[in-house]
Amino acid sequence: MIITIDDNSGFCFGVTTAIQTAERELQKGQLFCLGDIVHNGQEVERLDKLGLETIDYDDLRTLRNVRVLLRAHGEPPSTYHIAKRNNIEIIDASCPVVLHLQKHIRETYQTLHGKNTGAQIVIFGKKGHAEVIGLEGQTNNTAIVIESINDLDKLNYTCPIYLFSQTTKSVEEFEEIVAEIKKRRSEIETRDSELGSQEIVFEYHNTICRNVANRVKRLQDFARSNDVVIFVGGKKSSNAKVLFNNCLEVNSCTLFVSNIDDITSEILKQCHRAERVGICGATSTPKWLMEEVRRYIVESI
Ligand code: SF4
Repeated sequence: MIITIDDNSGFCFGVTTAIQTAERELQKGQLFCLGDIVHNGQEVERLDKLGLETIDYDDLRTLRNVRVLLRAHGEPPSTYHIAKRNNIEIIDASCPVVLHLQKHIRETYQTLHGKNTGAQIVIFGKKGHAEVIGLEGQTNNTAIVIESINDLDKLNYTCPIYLFSQTTKSVEEFEEIVAEIKKRRSEIETRDSELGSQEIVFEYHNTICRNVANRVKRLQDFARSNDVVIFVGGKKSSNAKVLFNNCLEVNSCTLFVSNIDDITSEILKQCHRAERVGICGATSTPKWLMEEVRRYIVESI
């Protein structure tokens, strides 16, 4: 049996930079992190042992005169306001790709604000996800979040629509949503053109991170080339869910584990029967964890 770890899996540059920043800043003294630095329990635990204390928004409101690291997901303006008020030094490790998207949404909001056109800024993303909270904050929380094509009834197709995406969503799903909005609008336009109404704006921006989008094809090639695929990802990671499903599409023998505790005797049996076992993961999966999974499988079979 050959066990291979996918070279292309593991932290994206945004997460790598945030973790390196945390490690560097920890050497200077006490450091808090607002939310889990990465959606991976094992990596959070490793950094916790180095002294990184994870806090939530309630803690942030009560802390004074400390240093707080902002993770790659980015934050809404309210976080910076609280920090300023409480004399908190921000160590900003927000990913530049996310910051660019925040700026794009903020500028769109500022352009549309107060024009009374009924324009809707729409974010395709997971409600409550840290990155999405940061994006909604750029619109004074007026953006409409849609989680899937099933949420499209929330939109008013007679008013302008400006669509953006959370950086880790699936490109295919985004394209399906764009096609469905176009379809619904064209039905209304056909009706309105008979009444002589003006065309209504529909702008869409594929703001899915290239780092994630490019991974899908390579990951699927990797999944196809193995008999059994062990996908290592955090249960809270939306990127892990998307990439796991991408593997499953091309290899029905893809199994999700968060760590070695999830490797059951059934999974070991499947590995044992296979000629090629592939181990891969999400952008939030540390390489050391994939290596630990490989070691565990080798030693258990
Ligand atoms: S997936 Fe892309 S946008 Fe998100 S943190 Fe990584 S590099 Fe940045």
